[in-house]
Amino acid sequence: MQNIQKNLDTLKQRIAQAAPHRLNSVQILAVSKRQSSESIRAASELGLTNFGENYLQEALDKQVMLDDLNLCWHYIGRLQSNKTRLIAENFDWVHSLSRENIAQRLNRQRPDDSAPLNVCIQVNIDDDQDKAGVSPDETLALAQIINTLPKLKIRGLMTIPKAGSSASEQHRSFSSMVELFGQLQEICPHADTLSMGMSKDLEIAVQAGATMLRIGEALFGPRAPQ
Ligand SMILES: *Cc1c(COP(=O)(O)O)cnc(C)c1O
Repeated sequence: MQNIQKNLDTLKQRIAQAAPHRLNSVQILAVSKRQSSESIRAASELGLTNFGENYLQEALDKQVMLDDLNLCWHYIGRLQSNKTRLIAENFDWVHSLSRENIAQRLNRQRPDDSAPLNVCIQVNIDDDQDKAGVSPDETLALAQIINTLPKLKIRGLMTIPKAGSSASEQHRSFSSMVELFGQLQEICPHADTLSMGMSKDLEIAVQAGATMLRIGEALFGPRAPQ
C-alpha cells in the first residue's frame, strides 16, 4: 500500500514536469480494474475520490465492500445494452458512450432520485478498427441528441489513441481531440472534461490539454491477470 503513495508522488512529478501550470487543475481518475478493494481504500486515504472500472460485476462487488467511503465511480469499459441498467443505477459517470440507443437506455434507466448521469462521448480519434467510439465527424450530432435526454449530462469527450503510435502521432490525435472539445463546448457550454491520457502517454495528453487522466498501473502497479 505504501507503493501507492510512492506511485502517486511519481505521477504528480511526471505531471509537474510535463506541464507545471496544470498540476493543480488536471484531475486523476484512478483506474482500479483488476485491483483489490484494499488498494482502492488505500488510494482513497491518499485523497483520491474518482475511480474508474471496466468490468461491471467486479465493480459492483467492490462498490459493496467500499460502501462506507464516499467515492465517485466512473464506468470506462465497453457498453453493452444488457448492462446499461446496472450501470445507470450504480455509477456517477460513463466515459464510453458512443451510441444513441445506449444513451436512450441509460437515460430511461437512470433512477428518478439520482442526479443526472455524467457522460463523456468516446471518440475513435484514430479510426482504429480495434477501438470503440464514434467518429469525430459524428460526435457533435450525437452530443445534440444526448443534450435532449434529461437524465444524462454531457461532461465532455474521452479517447484512447491507437496503441503503438509514435509520440508525434499521439500528440496529433490529442490535439484533434482538443479542437473537437472546443466545438462541443459551443453546443454544450457546461462540458468541462477531456478524458485522455493513461499511464504511458499522460505527458503528451496533459501537454495537449487533457483535463482528466485515467491512470491504472502507474498508480496501483501491475493488474491481476484476467
Ligand atoms: C485500463 C484503462 C485505463 C488505464 O490504463 P493504464 O495503462 O493502466 O494507465 C485507462 N482507460 C481505459 C479506458 C482503460 O480501459
